[in-house]
Amino acid sequence: MIVTPVVYCEDDQTLVDAFNHLPRPNMDSNYWSSDELKDLRGRVKTFYITAQGSRCCYCNRHLGTENHRVWDVEHIADRSKHAWFMFTPTNLAAACLDCNTAKSSTEVLTNARRVTYPSGSQHFKIIHPHFNRFADHILRVGQVYLPKTSKGKFTIYKCDLLRFAEKYIEWENRAVDRRFETEVSTVFADGLMAQAAVENIIAQLPNAE
Ligand SMILES: [Zn+2]
Repeated sequence: MIVTPVVYCEDDQTLVDAFNHLPRPNMDSNYWSSDELKDLRGRVKTFYITAQGSRCCYCNRHLGTENHRVWDVEHIADRSKHAWFMFTPTNLAAACLDCNTAKSSTEVLTNARRVTYPSGSQHFKIIHPHFNRFADHILRVGQVYLPKTSKGKFTIYKCDLLRFAEKYIEWENRAVDRRFETEVSTVFADGLMAQAAVENIIAQLPNAE
């Protein structure tokens, strides 16, 4: 998806401006969770859920619920590391709780020392919902996610997108079970959709979609 950035209302913009005028060492990443930002957080979340058609920015799954508790406002460049991007509209999106938890504080910038927000895809290791189309980087077949690019591979591993296939076939010892590793690597190495590899994975899934 290519997501449209949020435009803050007047009240929210006042809060954003006050934060953005702080010296960088004084920017506290925990400010995001403060009571003062409760309404802003709610508006940002609602905006991105709608802008993304209720699809998580990383797993691209449609969350068919009106309950916003299953969503997080996602800071693509993590706010604990880059507090100065906390309100940057192109740094914000909506992610499902599972993807956001898996990604955690993963560094996604190719240059972690940046102080101005990058304006293009090449500065990010992860699929960026404002700059990239999911399908250009990941092939999803039912429960299986396969990388088409290095960004796709990074996103699959850092957001734990193998969790769906793992759950589906009731994998145990998931940390050591690498049964699809060869197939995933084959697809990635070829840089194209290796249909045989995909079919091999699908064949191992019971009742694949
Ligand atoms: Zn997700």
